[in-house]
Amino acid sequence: MTMTELLCLDDAYLREFTAAVVEIDAEGARIALDRSAFYPTGGGQPHDTGTLKWDAESAAVTDVRKEGATVWHSIAGTVLPAPGTTVTGTLDWDRRHKLMRTHTAMHILCGVVWNEWGTLVTGGNMDPLSARMDFEFDPLPDGFKERLEQLVNDAIAADHRIEVSRLPREVALADDELIRTKVNLIPATVTEIRVVDIVGLDRQADGGTHVRSTREVGRLEITKLESKGKGNKRVRVALHDG
Ligand SMILES: [Zn+2]
Repeated sequence: MTMTELLCLDDAYLREFTAAVVEIDAEGARIALDRSAFYPTGGGQPHDTGTLKWDAESAAVTDVRKEGATVWHSIAGTVLPAPGTTVTGTLDWDRRHKLMRTHTAMHILCGVVWNEWGTLVTGGNMDPLSARMDFEFDPLPDGFKERLEQLVNDAIAADHRIEVSRLPREVALADDELIRTKVNLIPATVTEIRVVDIVGLDRQADGGTHVRSTREVGRLEITKLESKGKGNKRVRVALHDG
């Protein structure tokens, strides 16, 4: 089984990389690389798209999935690079950067809601420049929409730095703030926890890609509030250029 090194987790701004083809799956439509900057769908963040080039060939990357330690790239077309071939991967940077802004905005939203109302997030999902998050509110506080939008945009304007680090599991488990974000639900086999810190606002155990500082997110608009049953309220947001 191929262990794919996920370059995007160490450098979210890497747009182009070279790698070796290690495996082609049984159906012959997906390839595994020894390393990749393509983010595979996970943690609420959709996969990247882009292109792979080798020799005189080029193919679109249409889907990226992580299965065990292997990252599989689905390729459009019938010509595939053979194992051992060196390929150059290029991300659709416009899409990825929008996802980085959106993912970061979700963390800001979580941090603001926790700091202001002490309420936990229960789920969420994102597309480029739009997202939804569910919170344990019952009912929603008066003036919630305006207050939340203001607090999030204030946090964006404050331009908090965002830092990524890795902590030994025991250290992460002893951290109250990380416990709140359910680090204890991460399988015991994971001995090192990746932590995304919006300095001064929110720290979470997280496997996604984020921007370098909050100003890069742009302006957040709350487009809709919905009730999804008792103790579960859905916040829908859109991002605009700042
Ligand atoms: Zn996240």
